Amino acid sequence: TSKWARAMAILKELDDKCGTPLGKLRQVADAMTVEMHAGLASEGGSKLKMLISFVDNLPTGDEHGLFYALDLGGTNFRVLRVKLGGKEGGVVQQEFDEVSIPPELMVGTSEQLFDYIAEALAKFVATESEGLHPEPNRQRELGFTFSFPVKQTSIASGTLIRWTKGFSIEDTVGGDVVAELTKAMKRKGVDMRVTALVNDTVGTLAGGRYYDGEVIAAVILGTGTNAAYVERATAIPKWHGPYPKSGEMVINMEWGNFRSSHLPITEYDIALDEESLNPGEQIYEKMISGMYLGEIVRRVLCKMAEEASLFGDTVPSKLTTPFILRTPDMSSMHHDTSPDLKVVASKLKDVLGIPNTSLKVRKVIVDICDIIASRGACLSAAGILGIIKKLGRDAPKQGENPKSVIALDGGLFEHYAKFRECMEDTLKELLGDEIAEGIVIKHSNDGSGIGAALLAASHSQYL
Ligand code: ADP
Ligand code: MG
Repeated sequence: TSKWARAMAILKELDDKCGTPLGKLRQVADAMTVEMHAGLASEGGSKLKMLISFVDNLPTGDEHGLFYALDLGGTNFRVLRVKLGGKEGGVVQQEFDEVSIPPELMVGTSEQLFDYIAEALAKFVATESEGLHPEPNRQRELGFTFSFPVKQTSIASGTLIRWTKGFSIEDTVGGDVVAELTKAMKRKGVDMRVTALVNDTVGTLAGGRYYDGEVIAAVILGTGTNAAYVERATAIPKWHGPYPKSGEMVINMEWGNFRSSHLPITEYDIALDEESLNPGEQIYEKMISGMYLGEIVRRVLCKMAEEASLFGDTVPSKLTTPFILRTPDMSSMHHDTSPDLKVVASKLKDVLGIPNTSLKVRKVIVDICDIIASRGACLSAAGILGIIKKLGRDAPKQGENPKSVIALDGGLFEHYAKFRECMEDTLKELLGDEIAEGIVIKHSNDGSGIGAALLAASHSQYL
């Protein structure tokens, strides 16, 4: 019928507009490199903030003692304590807990959010087991992983530039997030000092380096997306502070805010952005990360329902609800290998309230998931290529063959196998066989928690 032809036309157009041939990805990578230079040259020089992390030394393995970490970055936050045993001991013991953040707190007041966190921290401190107590007369120390754009003013202070990933709390913006947490801890009777404030990418980089000396960058693919890497201090013109002894500085790129005319943007992306909590911002993140992939798929389905009656004469009402289709559900549908696409059928029924679908329609849905996930995966590979190029590791000098390890973490990378495989395969293709041999993607499972604790240790008040 002509309805079906219309559905196919929408699918075809989506596929064309989302195309990511290698040439285009190279343009994206080059644009990323250019923006990195611009962001390092001057404050506000680029959409990429290229934030100075104040981490000029990564973990060496000598760190020892009891340290806490708190990771606030998306829908959950994690609290962690570790006992570090120095070179010989490594991570001797660790305990953690995960607490979800009630959605209303993501758009409430600063005090409410930080009180909630401090309360959870108080409860966690109360459960210290044998061997995980601080030494007598020593205050507990914490590495605070805060995965939003922060302008650091020192290793343990920084002001929030803006919220992302569905958080929107006016009164936090422009304030020092460590001061907010410290006040809340005081209100809740937690005697603890924040000795390091780190982005999750920086934490992941630190955690990655602790286990593997060849780690040079970290990328997060979770609710949002971001990257950090080790830069030469001489390559940061905007840095006017003291020259670090190591000659290096970790840069938090805040790459989620990257945008470029080379990005394959569709009408769905434009509408998603316009209706988001942060229009005009985090454009790259909105094409790649877990918070948004399912939502893009929903928008395509909506259009097919409206214009091609994909699900019958009326548009199913649930389908019109923003963010109802989450990326984990999209991922389950995408990975459905049953001949009659059972999983797709049950997700449509349970999540979107669409009961009877034909196999033909379910196949279209898998195709849409594939187009959107592949585009995100390819674009993240291009971003990684941009970092590798910035560091000159795409063209090692004659005779040199450095290994570059990139620590990857985040729920999207960890759980969305097709996304991960596409990202890794595309990066290999972009690099070519020879160079690809020296570039390793390594899953750094919850490296950011351990990383924050390690940085808390190396910046302890007792050193
Ligand atoms: P955060 O980024 O909030 O710190 P995570 O790194 O744990 O947290 O990532 C969580 C995100 O990962 C979720 O918001 C979701 O988008 C994505 N995710 C989790 N599980 C899956 C899955 N099975 N398939 C696809 N994406 C997933
Ligand atoms: Mg996280």
